[in-house]
Amino acid sequence: MAVLINGTELAKKVKAEVRLGAEAMVEALGEEARPDMTLIVFEGDPVSRSLVAMKARDCEAAGIVPTVVELPDETTEEELFALIERLNADEKVTAILCQLPVPPHVSTKKLLNLISPEKDVDGFSARLDGDITDLAACTPAGVIRMLDEYGIEVAGKHCVVVGRSNIVGKPMAAQLLMRDATVTVCHSKTRDLASFTRQADVLIVAAGHAGLITADMVKDGAAVIDVGMNYVEGRLAGDVDFEGVSQKAAFISPVPGGVGPMTRAYLLKNALRLSAEKHGMGGTAVGSRPNE
Ligand code: NDP
Repeated sequence: MAVLINGTELAKKVKAEVRLGAEAMVEALGEEARPDMTLIVFEGDPVSRSLVAMKARDCEAAGIVPTVVELPDETTEEELFALIERLNADEKVTAILCQLPVPPHVSTKKLLNLISPEKDVDGFSARLDGDITDLAACTPAGVIRMLDEYGIEVAGKHCVVVGRSNIVGKPMAAQLLMRDATVTVCHSKTRDLASFTRQADVLIVAAGHAGLITADMVKDGAAVIDVGMNYVEGRLAGDVDFEGVSQKAAFISPVPGGVGPMTRAYLLKNALRLSAEKHGMGGTAVGSRPNE
C-alpha cells in the first residue's frame, strides 16, 4: 500500500512559513513592506468568484493584504489591459493575478503576457530555461515541494509528465529537468500512453481526464502525483484511479487533499517572494529552499 502524500498537511506548513516570512518583512521594513496581492475576477463566473474569495482568505491568514477587483463580464479587452497596465505601473502593487478562465472576448495569451513578470504571482511567465532558484508556476512548485518533503529523489530518475499545458505540464517538465531528471512528456496525441507511464519512476498526471491512469499503467514502487481536477457526479476526482494505483505505487497523492492545497500555498509563497525581491530581501524572508 502506497504512502499517502498529504498535501493538506504540507500546505499548512508552507502557509505557516509564508506567515513567518511576511511578519519578518514587516518587522524589518515596516508595515508598508507587508506583501500584497491584487486579484482580478470577472463577476459573472461563480466558480471563479468563489476561488478568488478563497485565495483572498488564504492571503489574509498568511499576513498578505488582498485586493479583489471584480469586473463586469462586458469589460472589454482594452479596458482590462488598461487596468493591468495601471497595476503594472503602480509601485504599491506587488503581485497581480487574473483568475482564469476569462470571457471569450479576452485573449488569455495576451493577458498573461501583459502581466509584468515582476508581479506575476501565478508564475506563468517564469522562464522554462530559468534557474532552479527562479520563480516557478505554483502547481509545479507545489509538486516539487511534495516530492522533496517525502524524500522522493528525481535526479537521474525517469519522470513522466502526462499533459503539456503552459501552466502545468510544460513548467512541470522544466522543473524536473532542472533537477536532473530524465523527463518524458505525454499528451493527447501520444500513442500507447501506458508504454510510457509504465516506465515512470515518478509519474505526474495533469490531463484533466478522470480515471485516465489505472494500476496496469503504473510501475511497482513508482511515485504518482495526481494534478487532475475533474467533477464526476458532482464530486472532485483526479486523473488517477486512486484505489487501484495505491496498491501498486510506493507514494501517491490523493484528490482532493493533494496538489490542490499545495498550489494554493505556493501562490502565497510566490507573493512573499515577489515582495521580498521588491524590497531587496531576496531569499532572507522566503527561505533557502529552491523556488522559495
Ligand atoms: P489543459 O486542458 O490545458 O491540458 C491538458 C493536457 O493533457 C494537454 O496537454 C492534453 O494534450 C493532455 N491530455 C488530455 N487528455 C489526455 C489523454 N487522454 N492522454 C494523454 N494526455 C492527455 O489542462 P491544465 O494543464 O490546465 O490542467 C490539467 C488538469 O490539472 C485539469 O484537470 C486541471 O483542472 C488540473 N489542475 C489542477 C491544479 C491543482 O492545483 N490541483 C492546478 C491546475 C490545473 P494536448 O496538448 O494534446 O491537448
